[in-house]
Amino acid sequence: MTHPSLRWGLMGASDIAETRMLGALRRTGNSVAAVLSSSPTRSVEFARRNGIPRACTVVEEFLTNDIDAVYVSSSNDMHLSHVRSAAAAGKHVLCEKPVALNLVEATAIIEACVAAGVTLAVNHHLPAAGTHHTIRELVSCGAIGRPLAVSIAHTTLLPDRLRGWRLSDAPGAGVILDLSCHDASVVNLLLGCTPIDVAALTATQGSWQARSEDVSMAVVRYGGGVLAQFHDSFTTAYTPPQLVVHGEEGTIQAVGVMAPEPIGTVTLSDSVGTRTVDVEDRRHSYDNTLRAFTAAVHESGRPVVTGEDGYNALAVALAVRESATSGQRVVLAHKTSRGQTGESTRERR
Ligand code: NDP
Repeated sequence: MTHPSLRWGLMGASDIAETRMLGALRRTGNSVAAVLSSSPTRSVEFARRNGIPRACTVVEEFLTNDIDAVYVSSSNDMHLSHVRSAAAAGKHVLCEKPVALNLVEATAIIEACVAAGVTLAVNHHLPAAGTHHTIRELVSCGAIGRPLAVSIAHTTLLPDRLRGWRLSDAPGAGVILDLSCHDASVVNLLLGCTPIDVAALTATQGSWQARSEDVSMAVVRYGGGVLAQFHDSFTTAYTPPQLVVHGEEGTIQAVGVMAPEPIGTVTLSDSVGTRTVDVEDRRHSYDNTLRAFTAAVHESGRPVVTGEDGYNALAVALAVRESATSGQRVVLAHKTSRGQTGESTRERR
């Protein structure tokens, strides 16, 4: 079903808004009315480069009647204040990941959108990809039997242009809040069960001498004893990112699928042999996210990744960071319904 398009405002003159989301908004028939930046120069330049009618630096002047929805891609520490303002003005919200810096802020974001009666989604784009949909279907229809383990190599070489705050000691810096939360958004949905506990180690490997971790390896235990391994790195140039799901009766290997573009292959190995699985949906993951978001706004669907899903992904990433920092296994008290605040406790390994 197609729905009337939305008029969007961009909260944040960010790289991701310019390089990915603007194209997706326009490909899916939406329009962009305004951009908000804290810098007058950045705001005007961003609007000029991208053909956006209004350039703003004041939130109240930005949130006017020509906007139905906002895309929040400001720095992570600004997500809460931007979502609160947008929701209070009655705008639907697509917020970048990590949804916030901690679970108290994430709860406040969810509650602000519920109180205002607006749709909230988080741009964990991977669950929206056709490849990931295919993998979830294989698992849920029993193609590999009982799941036993998941292994993610979210391994990249951080591009030059992104070697700023991610490598600093700013709130929200480091590979864990950048990539591990994406892994959790994938595995939480894939396994559909509760993460129980986490053990993790991190390092700083890049020649850039980052002030936050630029590689992390974590093991997350999910319900039913399924173990998930997350290898997240900014320092690995030559490994194709991949997702492997091992089951009692087969293994799914998906190479190149930890990217926003509609690329990558899915193979299934079982007692019959190894074969490539057809991926029907090869649309861009951002486009799929936007289509589902628009349907949710028009009350005929739900976002691919809801505010609660974003919260749950953040909860795992924060537990990974806490485990790496403390040297202890972290037990997750998982948030399963809106309004509860997740807590974690530490135990000696
Ligand atoms: P950027 O560094 O490009 O932008 C973040 C903020 O930094 C902007 O909102 C802007 O503030 C400010 N800024 C931008 N350029 C400059 C500059 N030259 N000098 C000083 N400040 C500047 O961040 P990203 O686009 O990489 O990330 C933005 C958000 O999107 C984050 O939450 C991130 O985690 C998320 N993200 C998600 C991805 C995904 O896979 N879903 C991928 C990449 C990012 P102002 O708006 O005030 O001008």
